[in-house]
Amino acid sequence: MDNRTQKMVDFFQKLYGSAPQKAVQAPGRVNIIGEHTDYNDGFCLPMAIERDVRIAVSATESASISVASCEKQESGAVTFDLCADVTKDPDHAWVDYVKGCVVVLLAEGIPVRGCQMVITGNVPLGSGLSSSAALEVAVIHALLCAAEHHMPAERIAVLAQRAENSYVGTNCGILDQLSSSCGMDGSAMLMDCRSLALTPAPLPKDVCIVIADTGKRRGLVDSLYNERRAQCEAGAAALSVSHLRDVSMHGLAAAHAKGELDADALRRCEHVVAENGRTFAAAACLRAEDSVALGYLMDQSHTDLRDKFEVSCPELDAMVTFARTLPGCLGSRMTGAGFGGCTVSLVQRSEADAFVQKLAQAYQAAYPAMPVDVFITGAAPGAGLLDLSA
Ligand code: ADP
Ligand code: MG
Repeated sequence: MDNRTQKMVDFFQKLYGSAPQKAVQAPGRVNIIGEHTDYNDGFCLPMAIERDVRIAVSATESASISVASCEKQESGAVTFDLCADVTKDPDHAWVDYVKGCVVVLLAEGIPVRGCQMVITGNVPLGSGLSSSAALEVAVIHALLCAAEHHMPAERIAVLAQRAENSYVGTNCGILDQLSSSCGMDGSAMLMDCRSLALTPAPLPKDVCIVIADTGKRRGLVDSLYNERRAQCEAGAAALSVSHLRDVSMHGLAAAHAKGELDADALRRCEHVVAENGRTFAAAACLRAEDSVALGYLMDQSHTDLRDKFEVSCPELDAMVTFARTLPGCLGSRMTGAGFGGCTVSLVQRSEADAFVQKLAQAYQAAYPAMPVDVFITGAAPGAGLLDLSA
């Protein structure tokens, strides 16, 4: 058992007076390219990362669920009754992610048992690496463990997304939950957000993925995210299709010329259509082991996200600019919804350690008040059981 699991098990023992029966994990994810395409039924190229949310769990005979998070450092566990109309508690907003999963499983007629849980995670919260999806997917695994019920990984992702959409109230697409639930050990994956098909897309051995957290946390950006979504929907409606996936650049220009799409919506939609093309091209680059071309596509993606989709911020732009000046960097872009959070860079493996150090230094010099975190990650497997005996 590694340190993190041991701490979680010790906390469980202290809190509930016995050892946990089982433990599960679900990883965060980084999106290499394909941003703001998932809710447009488009394509993404994510991989699960070597940071995760873990949950220790034991089934109980009571009709309630008790849950504590090591990260929240609250005095004890939060307990709620197991019923279909579980209410929100603003004092423990993070518990909404747990309650949302319970409500969604019950609505689907899936057996849910009373249980005790302890959560621990090292996916940074609110930085675009999907700690929320990792939490939801891990919670569903823990609930299924307690009830000794099984479910395919893709369905777990769909129900986790539903918990976030309908209970927590964040209108996210499927990218985060599907990446966490179905991550492929050692491989990125081309994700079709319409069919939910995942095609392995391993990275060439001589390059690696570096994540850089700017320390800037998204503020009240739900409204901006929803506005972008609405503009994408307006674009699709102007062309009489359900999603921008089915639209071409030519179609967008024609709709704009006819006055059916205003200039703002046109720019947003152009990003999505181009990004879908770039994501497809990126998967082809990986098949051809052409890392230079992949890096170029990542750079282009950032430019469009900054100038056309307008979801970047000065900290993300600075991190990307610093990265591109360093030896071994093939491409760099913001990752996740934007307005803060992380960048993802494609870096030659031989230069990666120096890149990590120098990027952190350059950013820290420019933003001395920000906590900076730069790290290399491989592609991790998707969610599953943790071995407590090892
Ligand atoms: P992101 O998914 O990009 O990390 P979100 O705002 O979607 O950002 O989700 C972050 C929220 O998820 C946190 O504010 C918290 O409520 C919840 N969360 C994630 N990980 C944990 C954890 N280990 N313990 C408690 N809550 C967590
Ligand atoms: Mg999230």
